[in-house]
Amino acid sequence: MARLGLKEKLAILADAAKYDASCASSGTMRRHSVDGRGLGSTEGMGICHAYAPDGRCISLLKILLTNSCIFDCAYCINRRSSAVRRARFTVEEVVRLTVGFYRRNYIEGLFLSSGIIRSPDYTMEQLVRVARTLRTEHDFRGYIHLKTIPDASPDLVREAGLWADRLSINIELPTAAALKALAPEKEAGRIEAAMADVAGRIAEARADRARARGRGRPPVFAPAGQSTQMIVGADPADDRTILQTADALYRRHGLRRVYYSAFSPIPDAPAHLPARRPPLLREHRLYQADWMLRLYGFSLEEVGAAMHGGHLPLDIDPKRAFALANRHLFPVDINRAPRELLLRVPGLGLKVVARILALRPHRTLRWADLARLVASPRTVKPWVLTPDWRPAALLDRADLRALVAPPVQGDLFAPPSPAGARPATLSPA
Ligand code: SF4
Repeated sequence: MARLGLKEKLAILADAAKYDASCASSGTMRRHSVDGRGLGSTEGMGICHAYAPDGRCISLLKILLTNSCIFDCAYCINRRSSAVRRARFTVEEVVRLTVGFYRRNYIEGLFLSSGIIRSPDYTMEQLVRVARTLRTEHDFRGYIHLKTIPDASPDLVREAGLWADRLSINIELPTAAALKALAPEKEAGRIEAAMADVAGRIAEARADRARARGRGRPPVFAPAGQSTQMIVGADPADDRTILQTADALYRRHGLRRVYYSAFSPIPDAPAHLPARRPPLLREHRLYQADWMLRLYGFSLEEVGAAMHGGHLPLDIDPKRAFALANRHLFPVDINRAPRELLLRVPGLGLKVVARILALRPHRTLRWADLARLVASPRTVKPWVLTPDWRPAALLDRADLRALVAPPVQGDLFAPPSPAGARPATLSPA
């Protein structure tokens, strides 16, 4: 490997890290340095979030320790047989960059991953050293997300969880068969075993903290939990299969997040990989469906009912597609419906539903009250009932899908035009 300056390494290793989508920093514990001690914070105003032109979050210093790798995963630009320019940071360089960028307010934390050098344990040891040095020598209190290396020793992963806010291990592909075909050195069973181990340690640490309440604080373990990433479109798996895998991972290992990353075609890729990336909208629809499963209480079957040929529709978001496929559930009475039904109304989010439930004991909600609560009254209007609004025959219309699907023109609820022409669509959500 040629000798490179720090700036050159940064250019190579930050670029190499952009393919990993799992960089969100939500869910960790609060730490700060407002008392003048320590460095960094995981909370508060003044932390900037920036997004790369391709939409990925770059608010953390997001780098690889190295883009050299002894594995040869077909979908990865850093694979052993790839002709990319290689670079490698030392532990000290990553620490220096993190502290320097933090002090300049460029970043709110560190997202560190790596290709595998020498062995999984050697690589994991280096990642752990970065986090340990930041925490113990620099009293760094910012956010740290470490990727765990497949097949690294459980002891090293355990130490990683003592220093990092979040750990993640990538499941990579939706099925074990696809992983075997495209990443033969990895094995789905071993990846899941590592996730199970981390989940067990997170649960143990939470129980220890609960027991120790008021009697000193035992060490925490990955307080922001664990996450994973699945590549979408590198193999033929449909959206149903992808969501089934995500749902199983949430249930089995209590993951905080599954990130979906649309496959990016790479230079000199093996011939059996797609030459084009799937539409980014597919990735977006998967996130929306994931949100429905994780936070809105939808079952896989309910999300699946809106699919065609195993895929989520691209022209309409999955919640609206669900409503269209289940018109018998609507209109939903805003003043009487249970929470789970309110959450199934397109345009009603978690906060709005909580607000509706909080207001109901005190007053009867009319259409104007609801319209004030929601971001887009027209999105909600076809699906709800209030004392002064009833969608009447709207729900039976054969062209309802066209009416509620963005992009839209016109306004269904506007007064009729002088010519009496029927408006074509609703306004955008
Ligand atoms: S182990 Fe990771 S870095 Fe190495 S080739 Fe596979 S995906 Fe790429």
